[in-house]
Amino acid sequence: MRLRNIPGSREIVAASPSVVREPEKARGRFRELFGNGHPIYIEVGMGKGKFLTTLARQNPDLNYIGIERYTSVLLRALQKIKEDPPPNLLFLCMDAARIEEVFAEGEISRIYLNFSDPWPKDRHARRRLPSAEFLARYDRILEKDGRLEFKTDNRALFDFALEELPKAGWKAELVSYDLHADAELMRGNVATEYEERFASKGNPIYKYIIYR
Ligand code: SAM
Repeated sequence: MRLRNIPGSREIVAASPSVVREPEKARGRFRELFGNGHPIYIEVGMGKGKFLTTLARQNPDLNYIGIERYTSVLLRALQKIKEDPPPNLLFLCMDAARIEEVFAEGEISRIYLNFSDPWPKDRHARRRLPSAEFLARYDRILEKDGRLEFKTDNRALFDFALEELPKAGWKAELVSYDLHADAELMRGNVATEYEERFASKGNPIYKYIIYR
């Protein structure tokens, strides 16, 4: 994601009722924040929020939380929902490396990773969101039968992500090397901003669904 500093984005994000400030204080109580007992699905590295905003409108009986590190990017998601913010959608502006400080054990029912930054240098492998280090964090916040779904157009990142699974004790329930060519998998697929861009160039989209 190309980063431009957008003046005022920090203040707008801080003032939005859709953004949880000091999310550590809500640890274990996110359902209370939503005011219902519905399952919570999160997207880590949400970007501009099209995927989660669409899902939140489609599924009012599920709660969604988008995690994005940069206020300048999160601002775009806030602009999308400005007129009619879905009550089942919240955002956190934070580094996902701290995810366990924010969610209690088993508090989350599903995790989405979409078009995560590839961090191509070996010395940055631990920063990749589908790395074994991150899978260990997800393991602790995801409920026992929960699933993690990952989509990318980056073959090297996808191969890396598959290699990380056994190290971290996860198993693949589904692996697709061409999501958009599979009519059954595409039923209900919500494209992200990056997915639209890369699929329209003809890039294959890779997807896995994993569990442990
Ligand atoms: N998921 C969106 C999509 O598919 O269109 C955005 C993809 S973009 C390549 C990756 C996003 O993840 C960026 O907005 C980046 O700031 C965010 N991100 C990367 N690492 C993160 C981390 N450790 N914590 C929070 N956000 C992160």
